[in-house]
Amino acid sequence: MAEPVYRRVVIKLSGEYFAGPHSFGMDQPTIDRIAGDLIAARQLGVEVAVVVGGGNMVRGVEVSSRGVSRPTGDTMGMLATVMNCLALEAAIERRGAPARALSAFVMPQVCELYTRGATHKYLAEGRIVLLGGGTGNPFFTTDTTAVLRAAEIGAHAVLKATNVDGVYTADPKKDPSAKRFDRLTHSQAIEGGYKVMDATAFALARETSLPIIVFSIAEPGSIGAILRGTGHGTIVAG
Ligand code: UDP
Repeated sequence: MAEPVYRRVVIKLSGEYFAGPHSFGMDQPTIDRIAGDLIAARQLGVEVAVVVGGGNMVRGVEVSSRGVSRPTGDTMGMLATVMNCLALEAAIERRGAPARALSAFVMPQVCELYTRGATHKYLAEGRIVLLGGGTGNPFFTTDTTAVLRAAEIGAHAVLKATNVDGVYTADPKKDPSAKRFDRLTHSQAIEGGYKVMDATAFALARETSLPIIVFSIAEPGSIGAILRGTGHGTIVAG
């Protein structure tokens, strides 16, 4: 079998996948399928850390428009990401693979605090490490978290799993003339204003020379295919 292209990666999973076919909450079959894909990726010999979103439950901007302050709404969103991590940790361990959820917040009854040291240790033990709580700060996203954590732990790439197979000039589901990129630079991604990831995430990836691979997770096994270099996605790299 081909050697994996990357030895250590951070995979960004949006909260919306956790809802599966629904618009809200957690869909267990979908979470189980993602768990299987992550285990298969780990079995390639790649160290896998996962940053999980929370959009299937709370987005700070949305709840803050309904009465709470933005920082409070964002805190709710970050707590939602911890819940997704716990669901994924349970799904991975139920399949017999070791995982470990870490949180950006101190919550000792729930899971261990994220530190670089703990992440290195659990990755070296062969665990799939699930990073919850975003950056721990309001006004950021879990896309930015994924790049930040990848830079902190010396990952070789960020794999951004989406529901489209790369970066397009416009939303291909709404605009049939949208063109897909095979490759573009971080600067082009920022200047193009492509919605697939926020500009803060691209800017930090540019500064830290981290490639981002944008790909669709709709097909089971797509994470493994990207890691083997046979997948279909857009590479954003300097
Ligand atoms: N969030 C935050 N700071 C962070 C990461 C996330 O405040 O560092 C909050 C923010 O309110 C966001 C929510 O958590 O709307 C869920 O994260 P995100 O929208 O990135 O999740 P996704 O869309 O990937 O499911």
